[in-house]
Amino acid sequence: MSIAENLNKIKLALPKHVTLVAVSKTKPIADLMQAYNAGQRIFGENKIQEMAEKHEAMPKDIEWHMIGHVQRNKVKHMAAFVNLIHGVDNVKLLKEINKQALKHNRIIDCLLQIKIAVEDSKFGMTTKDAIDIIHSDTFSELTNIRITGVMGMATFTNDYNQVSQEFKSLKLAFNQLSEFHFDNLELETISMGMSGDYKLAIDCGSNMIRVGSSIFGSRS
Ligand SMILES: *Cc1c(COP(=O)(O)O)cnc(C)c1O
Repeated sequence: MSIAENLNKIKLALPKHVTLVAVSKTKPIADLMQAYNAGQRIFGENKIQEMAEKHEAMPKDIEWHMIGHVQRNKVKHMAAFVNLIHGVDNVKLLKEINKQALKHNRIIDCLLQIKIAVEDSKFGMTTKDAIDIIHSDTFSELTNIRITGVMGMATFTNDYNQVSQEFKSLKLAFNQLSEFHFDNLELETISMGMSGDYKLAIDCGSNMIRVGSSIFGSRS
């Protein structure tokens, strides 16, 4: 099937409240343009340099999401245009995003990455870390960022029950954080689910899925 066909098939089966991020990392611009011409306007990349190059080359009505681990010294290369940074897992990074956003007179939306996988190779913070951050003096001064939700990645396993439990723990983290109200905290997004597990993720409360290979084909 073509990229457009893959995309349409996924979108048709998607509940209305779920946002689809087309994960285009490693794929050439011609492939992204096929998705764009089929109506897709939100793309996710995991390398800042690659995202900046694609942003430069492609139509300007695209929303660019940074879904990968973010190095602090590279934030400046995306601060002018990035729409959502999914993988924020420490205050120092948040401060740098705020600083760069200020330079561009922007408010940059961020998701806090919560560690939900039992395997310890994944990035992310605990719910308690997240609660501590939003109650810190530092956080109240970060007026050029806005935390709009949480992001998580489940363990890479076929164990349906385990993945389901991990997804539910992210939904729970979201609910716990939703009790707090600050100017720069407006929780609406639960980013979880990829090609192999997005249907389960939606059943567990996801409202933003990040799908790559099911749209663009496998990556080499
Ligand atoms: C690559 C990637 C995805 C998409 O993975 P697929 O299995 O190709 O759908 C989603 N989220 C993150 C953080 C990724 O790095």
